[in-house]
Amino acid sequence: MHRSRSRLGRRSFLVGAGTGLGTAGLGLGATATATARPQAPAPVPSFAPGRPILFRGATVVTGDPRLGTRQNADVLVTGATIKAVGPRLAAPSNAVVVDGRDRILMPGMIDTHRHMWQTVLRGVGAEWTIANYFRFMYEEWGPYWRPEDVYAGNYLSMVEAINSGVTTSLDWSHALYTYEHAEAAADALFDSRGRARLAFGDISAGPQKWAVDGDVDRLLRARFSSKDQLVTLQLAWDPPGDPAFPERPAWEFARDRDLMVTQHAGVWDFSTDAGISILRDNGFLLPTNTYVHAGTLTDSAYRMIADSGGNVSISAESELNAGQGYPPTGKVREHGIPVSLSMDTSVWWSSDMFSAMRATLNADRGLDHQAAHAEGKTVINNDLRTEDVLHYATQGGADALGLGSKLGSITPGKLADLVMLRADTPSMVPLTNAVHQIVFQASRAEVDTVLVNGRVLKYGGALIAPDLKRATRLAEASRDHIRDKAGAQQWAAGQEPPPYQAA
Ligand SMILES: [Zn+2]
Repeated sequence: MHRSRSRLGRRSFLVGAGTGLGTAGLGLGATATATARPQAPAPVPSFAPGRPILFRGATVVTGDPRLGTRQNADVLVTGATIKAVGPRLAAPSNAVVVDGRDRILMPGMIDTHRHMWQTVLRGVGAEWTIANYFRFMYEEWGPYWRPEDVYAGNYLSMVEAINSGVTTSLDWSHALYTYEHAEAAADALFDSRGRARLAFGDISAGPQKWAVDGDVDRLLRARFSSKDQLVTLQLAWDPPGDPAFPERPAWEFARDRDLMVTQHAGVWDFSTDAGISILRDNGFLLPTNTYVHAGTLTDSAYRMIADSGGNVSISAESELNAGQGYPPTGKVREHGIPVSLSMDTSVWWSSDMFSAMRATLNADRGLDHQAAHAEGKTVINNDLRTEDVLHYATQGGADALGLGSKLGSITPGKLADLVMLRADTPSMVPLTNAVHQIVFQASRAEVDTVLVNGRVLKYGGALIAPDLKRATRLAEASRDHIRDKAGAQQWAAGQEPPPYQAA
């Protein structure tokens, strides 16, 4: 099997090649101070608004191809912005200095597809396929969500994301049955203090019915007058199936307002090449479109997406468990389609982007090995690399949301959405190759400090904002409401589907 893949972002995380920002060490130096840190938790410094923050002496995985990964480097944040990256930066007089020794500083991770409203039913669908999911979440239980349940799911999902080092999440919000539901979804995202994109959707009807009925415009006026705020708006619906294209008014609405559209495409026999062709024939295969999963398209559809400039969001844990199609990293790389990663829903999974990176690598490499073995060959060198999936989880996500010039790497001038990982834990010592270890060793347990827009939301392993206790109380109440509506028998049956069956 020969593949000629474009190297989207490859090498971005490699050690910088001398750019006037000081010499970068090659690996082992960062462990020198590993035993010096006291065990007692340090008091939280006063991160008052306006005080610059200087991270001192960290291993900085910038994700910026010009800067690479730098050992014992400093990062200065002023206001919402990354001001400087380099060795021994001068601390402004009122700066808070954060000790970066035994720490990795990396760009905040970005999840481009997450059904946050479902987080109140965390864990319920662990045994599900997509068939079980459609039955329970779309048909039977989904209609029970009230505005307060959407709020609870979104707020908890943002708590989880921020705690996990996911600084931007796209809320694929397809339970916005009324304006009040939409308002609740938006309010929860704003209240979290994290960065989010509300992707307005409604599974109860085709988008030509709800996108143009006034609610989206009303919400735009009420909550989204600026494009520079932490939470922004776009649209979410699935590709057309009918060549008559009844969804045209919705697509015209999106285009007229310059709103991006994300859609589940290439999802086994639920969404096929036909949807991509219909969009192309009607002029709506736009460069701003995101195609989620995209696992079962043919080369012809991948080529159309590539030619249009669109991008793909891969949810490898979801695709492999639920059956939307095989994670298409190989195919989309062959066609040069930009990739971001996502975690889909906490009904099965979590907002753990470390899992997303690992599952993506596992799926891609496993397929290559299987294909080679089928031909009696051995894969000598792996194709997809850790730096690729780290790029997908950071800059790839920023690019997919149209925020690539502002987010996705630790680059002076970009917004300060940063994650600091502990590198002195049993899972991380000795720190030898930060990119490799972020992808295959780190977990949410290592997420020490999280900044969004220059604001510290987690420090020393503890959340400062948003409020987990409040999220828990709200989510438990919503879970109980849905459980009561479902009834004991169906609630139990929904969690334990019958044994394996295919039809
Ligand atoms: Zn989805």
